[in-house]
Amino acid sequence: MAFFIQSHRWIDGIVPYRVGESGVTDTAKEMIKWVIKYWYRNTGIRFRLRKSESDYVKIVVEHGLGGGRSAIGRRGGMQKIRIDPDYNPPWALSHEFAHMVGMLHEHNRPDRNKFVKLTSKADDSYAIDSSGIMVGPYDCRSNMAYLGDLGFTYIPGACDPGGHGLSTGDRKGIKYIYAGALGSRIATYDWTDGWTTAFFYEVAGKPFMFFLKAKDGTVHIHRVNADGKVGDKIDEYDWKSGWTTAFFYEVAGNPFMFFLKAKDGTVHIHRLNADGKVGDKIDEYDWTNGWTTAFFYEVAGKPFMFFLKAKDGTVHIHRVNSDGKVGDKIDEYDWKSGWTTAFFYEVAGNPFMFFLKAKDGTVHIHRVNSDGKVGDKVDGYDWTKGWTRAFFYEIQGNPYIFLLKDLEGFPPPIFFPGEPRINAARIQVLPDGTIGSDLERYDWDISWTTAFFYQVAGKRFMFFLRAPDGIVHIRRVGLSA
Ligand SMILES: [Zn+2]
Repeated sequence: MAFFIQSHRWIDGIVPYRVGESGVTDTAKEMIKWVIKYWYRNTGIRFRLRKSESDYVKIVVEHGLGGGRSAIGRRGGMQKIRIDPDYNPPWALSHEFAHMVGMLHEHNRPDRNKFVKLTSKADDSYAIDSSGIMVGPYDCRSNMAYLGDLGFTYIPGACDPGGHGLSTGDRKGIKYIYAGALGSRIATYDWTDGWTTAFFYEVAGKPFMFFLKAKDGTVHIHRVNADGKVGDKIDEYDWKSGWTTAFFYEVAGNPFMFFLKAKDGTVHIHRLNADGKVGDKIDEYDWTNGWTTAFFYEVAGKPFMFFLKAKDGTVHIHRVNSDGKVGDKIDEYDWKSGWTTAFFYEVAGNPFMFFLKAKDGTVHIHRVNSDGKVGDKVDGYDWTKGWTRAFFYEIQGNPYIFLLKDLEGFPPPIFFPGEPRINAARIQVLPDGTIGSDLERYDWDISWTTAFFYQVAGKRFMFFLRAPDGIVHIRRVGLSA
């Protein structure tokens, strides 16, 4: 389908551009116009004449160049696409545009040896790029697959080369990479410190955000505006301290909130009112202490809750009754200690659970059985330590996981010398539920303690909060077009 460089995305899928002055014939002008339109129609990537943006593309016409050249992805500052309108057909310019948004040649994919055979003419530019991100299967019809080449030949039967411009696979690949990409910041708030739990929810089609301080039990509920920003506060509560876990869930069309104190095992379940406010308490439980992770999930239309103790690895799975109350325990496990993050996700209709240990970066992915129980482990990874937040999100069938590392909670040396200091990443979730490559890596100057993805009025956002100082950033996600 497609092959991409890691990171270096154009923010919001917008590419500011300028056309160089010299050599711009009418043919060149027409060709550039055509390609810009072609890319907008087929990928949603938008080209906008550069005003003062610091990162931009300069399209330079060079007669006699004998081919096109482009940097790969957004490199920072001015970068050039060099084209030769006497030599390049329009789809060759489209090839350079594809490099510019981050695409690599198909024949540099790690799986290319099944499709192409190198000749003695192959130089370093034919080497496999093991850091590249493969999206879907090898695509012999890609705009990034050479039609004829001296450096390799296509293996008969394995490849059916041909076609011009962006293939169906290219278009899907670009959508996959850009639809979930973190975009521009639309809001910054400087709140009080101590907000430890925050999440988005919808009641009667209206969007809200819930904020809680574990230390003193302060709760604020805000409307969310149509532009994704945090709107008016509609209610606040002054509860007791110690609520460490809270989440929203719906059963039989009715909205509820679940509240848990890790320290003493107190659980409260509340109805939510149609105006988004926390309503009557419908039940309470007095459990054992130490439950650090809890979430709601549905399998085959049936609702369940998952509970985990990080300290000793105890796991309980409960049915959820149609009145919203926690029902029978259907299973329990006695795992190893140290699992600090866990969540449920679905890919192509199949349910999975993700488990992570912040301390050493161990990750397990399990299938979830149709009876709600945790099924077979389908994969495991050995990541770097310090990842404290991870969540799944999906945009138009494209699945991703977003990760945050707490650099302060896990003081140095957590990075090997020369290793980039990464404290956030967007990673690929493959169609079989397992995890692929890092799509984007970030080196941010602060460590966020809470983050979540949400959608309002068809637009997508990510919310980032830092408990120690109450800094909040809201960023766009995906293509702005
Ligand atoms: Zn190329």
